[in-house]
Amino acid sequence: MTVPTIKLNDGREIPQLGFGVFQIEAGRTAETVKAALDVGYRHIDTAQMYGNEEGVGQAIADSGIPRDELFVTTKLNNDGHGRSEAVRRLDQSLTRLGLDHVDLYLIHWPRPGEDRYVETWQGFEDARDAGKARSIGVSNFQIPHLEQLAAQTSTVPAVNQIEFHPQLVQRELSEYHREHGIATEAWSPIGQGKGLLDAPELAELAQRHGRSAAQVVLRWHIQLGNIVFPKSGNPDRIRENYEIFDFTLSDADIAAIEKLHTGARLGPDPDTFG
Ligand code: NAD
Repeated sequence: MTVPTIKLNDGREIPQLGFGVFQIEAGRTAETVKAALDVGYRHIDTAQMYGNEEGVGQAIADSGIPRDELFVTTKLNNDGHGRSEAVRRLDQSLTRLGLDHVDLYLIHWPRPGEDRYVETWQGFEDARDAGKARSIGVSNFQIPHLEQLAAQTSTVPAVNQIEFHPQLVQRELSEYHREHGIATEAWSPIGQGKGLLDAPELAELAQRHGRSAAQVVLRWHIQLGNIVFPKSGNPDRIRENYEIFDFTLSDADIAAIEKLHTGARLGPDPDTFG
């Protein structure tokens, strides 16, 4: 089975499904990423903050998979804002990953209180121009932060990685992304598992499609055009989360899922965090 790709605004392609490694212990990361690569995942989403880039690099090196068949994302840590510091931190990530470039480098959080994300973004442009990051993007940016980048820099982020699941359907940001050519990456796509996946509405859909609730929710993201990278440390679930390309939700199914929207965040508020 082939995972579809999404074309980014810089012409590059990203697999629409990847594997996230947030909260996977450093000592277990290599074996967990290996399990994901064995299933067929070719897109890995890590971050300096996760403390497990070495494990990701180890799994990649051990796999023997050609580098150009893999898509690797990392993210700048919150204490690394600033033009030259952002590049220096990427150099450190590349050493830990054992790679000479990442496919995507993201500003993890905008930190509007510190308000250095514009100069940080200029560092990201430098990193891209130096070939250290093929594509550059942001994470947890709100519309005013994206507008600030548009007004003061010349690169539109390739992606914005935001919290997005059935309880937080990010309609306004998605619409802004569509209008400006920014791809939407959905973090915590299955709402971190707990709570959300027990909703009776999802159980009904899961039963009707002969799938799990997690597969139904991941399929919903795919049909919205979102890029997702669910996390699991369990090989059976890693496989389950990959098997979402052989069924289709109807418009009515999608509407039923979106009725779960409450607007409540699982993670921090991007306007104040970091
Ligand atoms: P997620 O929505 O992917 O949920 C993961 C949890 O759901 C697992 O720990 C497990 O408990 C459960 N789960 C996984 N598969 C399941 C299945 N098939 N059935 C039942 N339960 C299942 O949450 P996440 O890890 O927070 O988000 C995914 C990825 O997004 C992260 O690993 C990371 O790469 C990224 N992320 C980014 C940010 C950011 O600020 N940019 C923040 C959080 C996460």
